[in-house]
Amino acid sequence: MDIRPAQEIWTAALGELQIGVSKPNYRTWLEKTIGLSYQDNEFIVGVPNPFIAEYLDKNQRSLIEKTLIGLTQRDINVIFQVDGRYQNSGSSYGDQGEIPIALAQSPNFNSRYTFASFVVGSCSSLAHAAALEVARNPGGSHNPLFIYGGVGLGKTHLLQAIGHVALVNHIQVLYVSAEQFTNEFINAIQEKKTREFRHKYRSVDMLLIDDVHFIAGKGQTEESFFHTFDELYNTNRQIVITSDFPPKTLPFIQDRLRSRFEWGLVTGVQPPDLETRLAILQAKAKDKGVNVTLDVLELIAQRAQRNVRELEGYLNRVIAFATLVRTAITPKLAAQALEDIASKKAKSPSITPSLIIETVARSFQLSPLYLKSRRRDRETALARQVAMYLTKQETNCSLAQIGIELGNRDHSTVIHACKKIESHIDSSPELKRKILDIQQRIYSELNTGNY
Ligand code: ADP
Ligand code: MG
Repeated sequence: MDIRPAQEIWTAALGELQIGVSKPNYRTWLEKTIGLSYQDNEFIVGVPNPFIAEYLDKNQRSLIEKTLIGLTQRDINVIFQVDGRYQNSGSSYGDQGEIPIALAQSPNFNSRYTFASFVVGSCSSLAHAAALEVARNPGGSHNPLFIYGGVGLGKTHLLQAIGHVALVNHIQVLYVSAEQFTNEFINAIQEKKTREFRHKYRSVDMLLIDDVHFIAGKGQTEESFFHTFDELYNTNRQIVITSDFPPKTLPFIQDRLRSRFEWGLVTGVQPPDLETRLAILQAKAKDKGVNVTLDVLELIAQRAQRNVRELEGYLNRVIAFATLVRTAITPKLAAQALEDIASKKAKSPSITPSLIIETVARSFQLSPLYLKSRRRDRETALARQVAMYLTKQETNCSLAQIGIELGNRDHSTVIHACKKIESHIDSSPELKRKILDIQQRIYSELNTGNY
């Protein structure tokens, strides 16, 4: 029997998968998964719900198996299993699929995201200093603090670091993702509990809102957030907001929300330079208790340039590779471990908007041209919205690009379409099935190389 540290392997696999699939795709389907067990060539991946299990099973199985086989050099059968732990732990499954541990004070914080573990480089020094100031002096001059920047650059880390300090100082703090805020808001309306909702958000001393771009364009949620904001702000309570984009470019319906975000301090985080990447890698390796020499770290830092998450993924990959083949971590081994990624990045066929448009059109029995046309009958409009939603999910195209692909439409139309489909997926099993089916077709086209 062969029992290996499933979570360790899975962490490395996730690092790699993150590079192989689109960002939204990774976030939706893979981010919250965990490695449950690995025995007798059977690898069990824990997932939060049956929908994700089914999606992964149908669409990503071969990619995932290939990745695991690449890492372990063994034949592997992967099984996706809904894991009970998700129910108890809410959304606290952290990055890299780590298993949540009972955190001292707040189940919402990742214990690793503290100021102590944040490596300050020139690319993030301003944001770091502002976060520290807010933590020490909440409700002061930096209210609200708005931190923006690309994915994996430490925004959530800084936000939660503030939260940790607040907890220590007995400040009543609430951390939520904008997505969670939206869901709670919708539930509150449905269950007629808007009073409780309001109370929850307006009674805290500090509100930390992660990924606020998520609510941009969602009219009622924006409105509700606007009132929450004002109430807190007017009573000097601290608000900290993160977003993938600066306030200026967020497609808010409420312009007054945007201007409020600019009242305090708006600061960005940039991708780390080589020096900072190296410092981060050193800290991460130390944290893991693994001795990795400087030349190896340099090699990793050279190759992972985009963000810290990628950096961690590469380091994990190298460590896992060395563990699995049971050799020391040399530059040669590291290069070997990463070479695989580089070639996969270059070779892997990717999903294009036209593949999606054609597949959607076929599924709706419409001409792809209809989707790009001005036709507005219900069926065509729905098909077009599904195509927009899937293009956002499965590719890295910007909203503007998606709009152009689907008949030169505005990016706000794309946002609207995505929101609509997202909410319909939850309420209509029929649509959910149809979309899963289309996704499956897209992936099989891709895998058979017809495209
Ligand atoms: P974002 O929210 O911007 O997408 P995260 O805060 O989730 O990014 O960061 C991604 C990962 O990189 C996390 O594991 C985080 O701890 C780590 N990280 C990012 N920036 C730094 C940094 N400057 N020092 C140490 N770790 C960092
Ligand atoms: Mg984040």
